[in-house]
Amino acid sequence: MSKSSAFSEDYATARNRFREAAAGLGWRLEAHPVGARGPGGEELTVDAAYSTLADPEKVLVLSSGLHGLEEFFGSALQTALLEEWASSSPPEVKCLFLHGLNPFGFAWLRRCNEDNIDLNRNFLLDGDSYKGAPAAYPGLDELLNPRQPPSRSEPFKLKAMWTIARRGMPAFRQAVAAGQYDFPKRLFFGGAAPSRTFQLMNEKLGSWLQGGRHVVHIDLHTGLGPKGVCKLLIDYPLSEDQRTRLAEWYVADSFESCDSSDFAYVVLFADLNCLVEFHDLPAVLVAGGSKPMGTTGGKLDIVFNCARIRAAFGVQGSGKLC
Ligand SMILES: [Zn+2]
Repeated sequence: MSKSSAFSEDYATARNRFREAAAGLGWRLEAHPVGARGPGGEELTVDAAYSTLADPEKVLVLSSGLHGLEEFFGSALQTALLEEWASSSPPEVKCLFLHGLNPFGFAWLRRCNEDNIDLNRNFLLDGDSYKGAPAAYPGLDELLNPRQPPSRSEPFKLKAMWTIARRGMPAFRQAVAAGQYDFPKRLFFGGAAPSRTFQLMNEKLGSWLQGGRHVVHIDLHTGLGPKGVCKLLIDYPLSEDQRTRLAEWYVADSFESCDSSDFAYVVLFADLNCLVEFHDLPAVLVAGGSKPMGTTGGKLDIVFNCARIRAAFGVQGSGKLC
């Protein structure tokens, strides 16, 4: 199978293909409706598939589509792995694949969900409230959230370049992408309460990860970095030990932590990876992160392979990485 053939043309095709590939491996399948419909009137679901025969103590969680549009890539990667494992052999660890975490965004070609929530800003932990915005966000409102579509004569690029030049790219990026909870109709809105996807994770993670003691969670994204280049983004600072271990697992320079000077941005509160970490589970999050890939990239095989999964679990981590 060529890598590009793993890409599906729409939500319905991708979902069917994912489910067929997982069923072909004998994995257990679940479908969780989110209460919304797609362009063809189809019911939209988050789909979970997991292997049942492998060692349940070690779990690989591969999730995708939290930002709807990015699911073309995430779904392709998951499906390519499943189809490849059908003709070779799946890894010797339990695998949990979460497909279409934002099915509305995927089906309707949106980043956000049906409530304009940027889901990767929605996984707040106990004690955090759905309030607040970066101090600079209101000042960027007109640029980020124009009331009308830009016309041909609208110098949007010029305005954006001028704003970035005045503020500096890191400050601009942080103000825009960190997430905000005060403007429900604007970009990067993190929601006013837990989304359906968040509720689903809370309801199901306990049973999905039951028996798990070592969990690696990779949440797939696109849109950052050069075309075709993968990077593991880790939103916690790394010690030297952790850095060395991750370099053994993922190859040096294939990951970046939030204490790096050129880290993309840090979200205001928690993102999906933190949910696994802080969820009241016996499992230890061995390593987690978001895996963004330059938009339109297609090097599926560099993201993950069985050898690397085995290498990751072969290292006996004694404690929590984060
Ligand atoms: Zn994303």
